[in-house]
Amino acid sequence: MNPTQNPTLTGRSIARTLRDTALYLTRHGWCQGAYYDATGGSFTPPACLVGALGIVCYGGPVDAPALNDADPGFADFDEAVTFLGRFLGVRHRSDVYSFNDAHGRTKDDVLRALELAAKLAEQPAPECCGVPLVEAANSPSRDFVDDIVRSYWCERCGFWTHVEVTDPDEKARLTEVFRSGGKPESAAFLGGAA
Ligand SMILES: [Zn+2]
Repeated sequence: MNPTQNPTLTGRSIARTLRDTALYLTRHGWCQGAYYDATGGSFTPPACLVGALGIVCYGGPVDAPALNDADPGFADFDEAVTFLGRFLGVRHRSDVYSFNDAHGRTKDDVLRALELAAKLAEQPAPECCGVPLVEAANSPSRDFVDDIVRSYWCERCGFWTHVEVTDPDEKARLTEVFRSGGKPESAAFLGGAA
């Protein structure tokens, strides 16, 4: 079977949720230490990261966004918060709550994290044998002509493929990571994200 390299529907919907969350925070404000800043009595209060994700998915503030599983928006919330949690774990050794509430954190930090996570969610996720390919442990890497590639394999048939990173921002970021001798994000994160 030929692998396909389109972003998955799930990846696209996660990216949309994360960008809507960033838009909400930009428009209505950001807070720390609580889901919502209810002091203004607004239906669209300033919110923390998880609070804003909840508003985007549920249409308004709820008491406990992560426990609101009877709501039709819960699947979207759960997908986006899980993806973002994995991203923040790998990138910042943090989680969605402590990242938001960290001392010195700014709204811009939160908006940047949302945008980068959205970009990763949109990244092409190759499929083979009807399942998403798994990103290899040594991926991303530089190939012999110094292109940056992500390597994937099919758990079912053993097919291997290498996908060049062409997004300019992603390429620049990974180039800088390699140049500084750092480690790119773990493959486990991206493998699980497809
Ligand atoms: Zn296969």
